Amino acid sequence: MIEEKPRVRFAPSPTGPLHVGGVRTALYNYLFARQHGGKMILRIEDTDRTRFVEGAEQYIIDALNWCGIDFDEGVHCGGDYGPYRQSERKVLYVKYIEKLIDSGKAYYAFDTPEELEEMRERGDGNQQYDASIRGKMKNSLTLSQQETDRLLSSKVPYVVRFMMPPERVVKINDVVRGKIEVDSSTLDDKVLLKADGMPTYHLANVVDDHLMKITHVIRGEEWLPSLPLHVLLYEAFGWRLPSFAHLPLLLKPEGKGKLSKRDGDRLGFPVFPTQWKDPQTGEIAMGFREEGYLPQAFVNILLRLGWNPGTDQEIFSMQEMIRTFNLEKVQKGGARFDPEKARWYNHQYIQQMDNETLAKEYLKILHRKGHDAPEEMALRITGMVKERINFPAEIWDQSWFLFEAPRELDPKVMKKKWKQDTPEIIRGLREQLAGAENFQPGALKEVVSDYIHSNGLGFGKVMVPLRICLVGKAAGPDLMEIMEIIGKEETLSRIDRALNP
Ligand code: GLU
Repeated sequence: MIEEKPRVRFAPSPTGPLHVGGVRTALYNYLFARQHGGKMILRIEDTDRTRFVEGAEQYIIDALNWCGIDFDEGVHCGGDYGPYRQSERKVLYVKYIEKLIDSGKAYYAFDTPEELEEMRERGDGNQQYDASIRGKMKNSLTLSQQETDRLLSSKVPYVVRFMMPPERVVKINDVVRGKIEVDSSTLDDKVLLKADGMPTYHLANVVDDHLMKITHVIRGEEWLPSLPLHVLLYEAFGWRLPSFAHLPLLLKPEGKGKLSKRDGDRLGFPVFPTQWKDPQTGEIAMGFREEGYLPQAFVNILLRLGWNPGTDQEIFSMQEMIRTFNLEKVQKGGARFDPEKARWYNHQYIQQMDNETLAKEYLKILHRKGHDAPEEMALRITGMVKERINFPAEIWDQSWFLFEAPRELDPKVMKKKWKQDTPEIIRGLREQLAGAENFQPGALKEVVSDYIHSNGLGFGKVMVPLRICLVGKAAGPDLMEIMEIIGKEETLSRIDRALNP
């Protein structure tokens, strides 16, 4: 049971476009907040200036907006706990770091990069800056107060390190992972304040979660190794711990390894919600939006990547997600991204979409292809092919033959379905069609069936070759409708071309 109204945050670093995994983290936070009538906060964690990417923050805001994930407080909408961009909270962090130093829980360190390298080498390159070594390094624990003060007032670069408490078993109960125990002697004295005067992720993250009164930290599994340090920081400050829930990794379609952009490039699916243009290289990475995914479908895909309702329900509206989502049913193991299943979700949502909206999209595609059609016709074609499509752009793939004659007749189908007696059969049918006065589906169906019956032919022996003549392949929407739309003249001319290639 949750006694107080939860406050959760999505805290991305603006280092590039948001990966699907990031959007899923935002979604789970959002669903949790909305279900419990809590607050959803967007905090930008930009203390690592070396990884800062221009435009990434706006991208994150816009992409989440497209997904229908909105915020109550944040960098873009304000709130009582701001500023919500960490680079604007620098002074505040310094104050908290000083508190730790004053209480002996953190210390200044003046080691140069060379000295640190040398230290690492002492343990075959694995030596950490920890209790076993801190007494041998250049820091405020080993130097006199006087020397420390002198170095601090000179321009010598320094960092502030957390003094990892010795021999502590840190016990944490993660909502997803269950009980976790970590021996503090395996952990190092992490840097809290960097030489550039910026706090590290760990310090800023913990201070902000406390000051912003975050009740539940819901984030990706990659942050699990940082959890013991965070817990000890809360303890060092004497603050109450929030609840933690670490979400499973998103895995490659093959099931092993973390899903990356390279997998998307390799297998032809996007890993970003919307298109991203790299400000440095100008390179464009595709987004789910540009590939034709509907935002509701995209969000539904993410819902099921790591969360299982325990029933066989697959399709959830946002309202249903908010009603049913719970952290207890988030799985521990990684969630495999299945591109096929992703398309299936979009297909389901496309079927729910109204034909008018789809037809508008279709008209745009037609114009791009140099064709036009009356609105009514666009609507009719949309209705004819809707069942076969996963994306709006596929209406064209399923209907181009209504505007252009096939350039070739699929050789594989020809080999299988175009028999020795086919030309004669099709010639006979052509004659009947040429004589038909009414070229509407009902009348055409009669002409074709009469021809089939009066000649004692099989249905397939006529229909399949006729389809090959008209569309070049064996599949597609209703043939009578196709004939009506392209008209008598075009129907006959396509038949003639197939008969006399
Ligand atoms: N800034 C971290 C990130 O980019 C946030 C991790 C957290 O939620 O604590 O994912």
